[in-house]
Amino acid sequence: MRCPLCHLLIALTLLCNVLLLYYTWHLNSRPAGRLSPSPALSPGITVIVREFRTFEHGLADLNHSFLRARPSLQILIASEAPPYPPVPRLHVVRLHPSPEQPGSAVRLESHIHTRLVALVPDGTSLDPSDLLDRMARALRDAPSGVRIVAAGAGGPLRCLHLNVSLRAWTAEYRAAVAGETCGAVGGPAVLLMRSRDLFDLPFPLSRPLRSAIFIQSALRGWGVKILEGAKFPRTPLPATDHGRWKDEQAERAEEAATMRALSVRLVRGPEGDRWYGCSKDTPRCFGTVVGETPEYLYEGRWTPPCCLRALRATMAHVIKTLEASNVRYWLEGGSLLGAARLQDIIPWDYDVDLGIYLEDVGLCPELRGAQGGSLIDSEGFVWERAVEGDFFRVQYSQSNHLHVDLWPFYPRDGVMTRDSWTGHPQDIEFPETFLRPLQTLPFAGVAAQAPNNHLELLKLKFGERSIEEPEYPNPAVLRMG
Ligand code: ZN
Repeated sequence: MRCPLCHLLIALTLLCNVLLLYYTWHLNSRPAGRLSPSPALSPGITVIVREFRTFEHGLADLNHSFLRARPSLQILIASEAPPYPPVPRLHVVRLHPSPEQPGSAVRLESHIHTRLVALVPDGTSLDPSDLLDRMARALRDAPSGVRIVAAGAGGPLRCLHLNVSLRAWTAEYRAAVAGETCGAVGGPAVLLMRSRDLFDLPFPLSRPLRSAIFIQSALRGWGVKILEGAKFPRTPLPATDHGRWKDEQAERAEEAATMRALSVRLVRGPEGDRWYGCSKDTPRCFGTVVGETPEYLYEGRWTPPCCLRALRATMAHVIKTLEASNVRYWLEGGSLLGAARLQDIIPWDYDVDLGIYLEDVGLCPELRGAQGGSLIDSEGFVWERAVEGDFFRVQYSQSNHLHVDLWPFYPRDGVMTRDSWTGHPQDIEFPETFLRPLQTLPFAGVAAQAPNNHLELLKLKFGERSIEEPEYPNPAVLRMG
């Protein structure tokens, strides 16, 4: 057959078949569950109700109010467990995975298909019906740094400044000054934001919702705009005394869990300080220290404020006890350095060191008790002989092992010495003249005994520039900056 066109046609047909075959095979062989590009979001607003209690809520009324005003709204009830008894016609998103559901069921992206989301507390009604649209316009017209628009729910809002320091494990609120962009708002609020911003938060719906959102948004530098002259009507819920009591109990537990998840151990605000870190009844916040470098330093963080507080309390207690027994003691090592530098524990230090005269040990009942093993005093502090060497250790409590170390020295030919050493470069013998006489230095809120001429002693122990040039305890392992 001499027909070049026929050959060409046959070849083309074959090629088409091969391509079709490859395409079909490719479609079928895509691994299940592979991430597809996130679908485009449509205009509109999804209402998310996260702030409610399953035991006493107004979800049916809220649903009704919002849908009557805006029938096209999608309303999601977000909860660990669905309301019980069940409420008909609610779209409940379960935030905890359950074994029979696909993993995507707990992802917000699976449920939210609009560009904007409104976070609405229980008890709120939508009135007037264009209030959400006004918030959307305010967000659209806001400066680029503003990522959240807030409107009061049942009352006015306060514009707050919020500073979150991961290094210090703290969130600090204060009233914003005139002209300052809010970092958070005080009071029940409806929050409107872009869905993608909400998806970007690692804890998008942690409770208490507003403080969790604001701490995360503050870390991203997002501002909050209050929609002036606008307020959603709201009936506070739960309404019964018993319901409110249960609500407060639950909120306290949620707040503690969320703050720990967000690495916040202390929240300061106009209403006072709230602590979420270690206490006498818990273990301390970090594990055994290896190479003089506690784990949090590797994370770019300093000593959690709860731990510094417990160290200060232990130190004050130890000093009070030693002074009552006339035991001569003095600030040693990093604690003396902290006293010289900032009259406090160095913010990344993890213990307090005191030197004592070995011959004075017998004067103190607690130290005598510790010599034979360990002793728990009337305030719950644990006095014991350290297992690591020839020194004493006073722990904050039986469960919280934050501690003050007491190093017994004795004079030999005018030099203060010990029988065992830690091997740390600053742990060296020194002339007894530094202790004759002792002087008083302010340290961590108390008047503590310290060597005289302490700056000279510090140079001897840590080197010439140790006071002006702070460095982590073991620069060979981890340097500052
Ligand atoms: Zn702590």
